[in-house]
Amino acid sequence: MTERIREFLRNRRAEGKDTEPCLVVDLEVVRENYYAFANALPDTRVFYAVKANPAHEVLSLLTQLGSCFDVASVAEAEMVLAAGATPDRISYGNTIKKERDIARAYELGIRLFAVDCTAEVEKIARAAPGSRVFCRFLHDCEGAEWPLSRKFGCEPEMAVEVLEHAHRLGLEPHGVSFHVGSQQRNVKSWDRALAAAAWIFRACAERGITLSMVNLGGGFPTKYLKEVPTVRTYGMSIFRALRKHFGNRIPETIIEPGRGMVGNAGVIETEVVLVAKKSANDEVRWVYLDIGKFGGLAETMDEAIRYPIRTPRDGGPVAPCVIAGPTCDSADVLYEKEPYQLPVSLEIGDKLLIEGTGAYTATYSSVAFNGFPPLKTYHI
Ligand SMILES: *Cc1c(COP(=O)(O)O)cnc(C)c1O
Repeated sequence: MTERIREFLRNRRAEGKDTEPCLVVDLEVVRENYYAFANALPDTRVFYAVKANPAHEVLSLLTQLGSCFDVASVAEAEMVLAAGATPDRISYGNTIKKERDIARAYELGIRLFAVDCTAEVEKIARAAPGSRVFCRFLHDCEGAEWPLSRKFGCEPEMAVEVLEHAHRLGLEPHGVSFHVGSQQRNVKSWDRALAAAAWIFRACAERGITLSMVNLGGGFPTKYLKEVPTVRTYGMSIFRALRKHFGNRIPETIIEPGRGMVGNAGVIETEVVLVAKKSANDEVRWVYLDIGKFGGLAETMDEAIRYPIRTPRDGGPVAPCVIAGPTCDSADVLYEKEPYQLPVSLEIGDKLLIEGTGAYTATYSSVAFNGFPPLKTYHI
């Protein structure tokens, strides 16, 4: 929460524009985060994961600061180009692409693509001849609060085959990538992945293929309720792991922070619509907000991400609450398995602030489920 956001919300309220929930992102915080990454890993290039928050203001700022971009679709690539970045600063990092989208990306000037199987290599060889490819390998996401499934990546042994196939088809086998899982609070997670990366480098070298790049992925956390290590700590741990596994032949590296770049820059303001109990002696109150899973808080799925919530009545006695959204879908409950402690004096009409919501919120909000409009966003 910054003074700039506080002031913005005060003015919005004074103008009577606070009828719907909204997300406010402080671009100064994004700027600080970018510099923190750049300083923590000075020899590593930053490829911002656009999906975390693709707002034009965020992309423009990061373009000016010198960032590169990880995109998952042609539409995201076009947003990055519209923000002023050149196509050589874009990595098409989705391993699942239609061949016509690869062709379109190639037309736009993009020459760096992720793959994790030979069929995808063949699409790229046809639609983006001569491009650089990197192979994503599987890595278990132990320790991550928002773990990624086996959807992306292949076993390291197969990565060698995939890269060799790329070489045969006239592509440039550039390197490997992995993702340690989002909101990864264990700074040591990169160590095991880098051991596998170094193994792939050696196996490829034995086949006459020289790889040069390791994409260290995202996973850098935002502070929610629990403390998280600093970006500097991640940087030092990653550098140690690179030294350990690559010796004095450290490859070119890139990182793809999403959450860590924008998460703490955003705050959502929401209104309490109803406070109720299910029976007279129910100990748990139900607090219904005007935002829920379909309004942008999708990452509360399985109660994975627990956002800090501030109320105007903080400081007084608290009691457990189930927190739910406003839609008529029974899945629209944010925290129930582990109820959330909120002030006993909380009332209908109170405005709450949900912190750490700059990443993975606005784009998750549905178009008009139950007629609720998509989350309003302001980038200041
Ligand atoms: C989503 C994504 C990221 C960003 O992950 P965070 O955990 O938000 O940093 C990075 N790389 C790829 C390939 C992704 O899909």
